Amino acid sequence: MEKLKRVVIVGGGIGGLTLGLALRKKGLETKVFEKYDHFQHHRTGFLIWSYAIKVLQGLDVDVDRVGAPLEVFEVHGRKGQPLTEMPIGTVSREFGADSYEINRRALIEKMSEMVGPDLAAGKNCISVESFADHAVAHFEDGTSAEGDVVIGCDGANSTVRNFIHEHVELRMLNAGGWIAVLDQHPPGLKPNRHMDFWEPGIKAGVADIGNGQARWYVGMNGALPSADRSIVEQIMEAVPVLPPVLQQCLDLTDEKEMVSVTGGDLLALEPWYKGRVMILGDAAHATSPYAGMGACAAIADAGRLAELTDDCSDITEMFQRFQDERKPLTDAIIQGSRDSLHMSTGRCRIENWFRDLKMAHIPDQAMHKIVADMVNGN
Ligand SMILES: Cc1cc2nc3c(=O)[nH]c(=O)nc-3n(C[C@H](O)[C@H](O)[C@H](O)COP(=O)(O)OP(=O)(O)OC[C@H]3O[C@@H](n4cnc5c(N)ncnc54)[C@H](O)[C@@H]3O)c2cc1C
Repeated sequence: MEKLKRVVIVGGGIGGLTLGLALRKKGLETKVFEKYDHFQHHRTGFLIWSYAIKVLQGLDVDVDRVGAPLEVFEVHGRKGQPLTEMPIGTVSREFGADSYEINRRALIEKMSEMVGPDLAAGKNCISVESFADHAVAHFEDGTSAEGDVVIGCDGANSTVRNFIHEHVELRMLNAGGWIAVLDQHPPGLKPNRHMDFWEPGIKAGVADIGNGQARWYVGMNGALPSADRSIVEQIMEAVPVLPPVLQQCLDLTDEKEMVSVTGGDLLALEPWYKGRVMILGDAAHATSPYAGMGACAAIADAGRLAELTDDCSDITEMFQRFQDERKPLTDAIIQGSRDSLHMSTGRCRIENWFRDLKMAHIPDQAMHKIVADMVNGN
């Protein structure tokens, strides 16, 4: 058995930082190389479900400093009317950890601090190579880094992925929108809540992310954000019935703080490795954001890969086992996110009426199962 000692990680996002901390805890020498030498200006937030929070807490990441436990996920229907309240907090705790709404930039800053000198910023990876007994990442500044393996955690537009698959592109979904973080709570949002609105052609949400902050988003299906027009105008046009809490968010957010996003994914990409180079997180299985699972999947990938370093007899076995275990789960997440986009933003009046009726009458036991699947990443 070749003992894995040195790991080069490309990308200091949520997947790369989690992997850096998890491998260091296993006693491996790791170095994380991040393209940017500054935290990018825009602030966004995300929902991290219980199963991924457990991984972060196991690495001593203090999620309470950067987010708030989510108690209730409200779903509102085609006319903005309340349909159901999902008991996220109660069910999450049954499985051992709360789910959290998180300020993404604060989390990345915190985890970067924890990785400390093992994080090298301003290192744009331009290519990788794999040899019989080592792998190398090359950077734009002319330097390179050598390890027993190179793991690409460099996101949806991964450079490392090009070594395994040339010319792979995201499948874009003709869907997109805006996200933002607010330094105050809109009056219509209660603490520890997420309010989701499923209206014809749009899915919007507002959530408490702790520390007096909130995040909101508007996602459109069948339309993309335009850089040439006022964002608020575009949102007012796209949202059929503007919920008061979303209006409050728009009133309280400077347009410069609204980040445009478009939805795309990489369903069924394989393999995830070649020689001594592997990819994980969005680099391997980018998903559209509508199921709110991509970051959770990157965190779970990192936690599982670190565990496999103890269990496998060689690197190929480790990479193959990782892919065999994680790929069916992440393919299901990507498909689930596509389905969620269609379910929440459908334009057919009869289907929406029927969906709302069903959502409003979910029996307790069935609701428990739905929430249990979400908090466990199934
Ligand atoms: C609008 C929106 C909402 C979302 N909401 C949720 C949610 O609620 N819950 C959830 O779980 N997920 C959510 N996601 C998905 C989630 O953001 C991604 O799945 C997650 O960030 C993937 O993590 P990653 O570490 O693989 O990639 P990234 O977070 O993209 O990190 C990649 C890192 O690699 C760096 N990098 C890129 N290229 C190079 C290079 N050549 N050299 C060195 N470094 C490089 C980048 O700068 C970046 O720091 C959302 C996504 C979007 C767009």
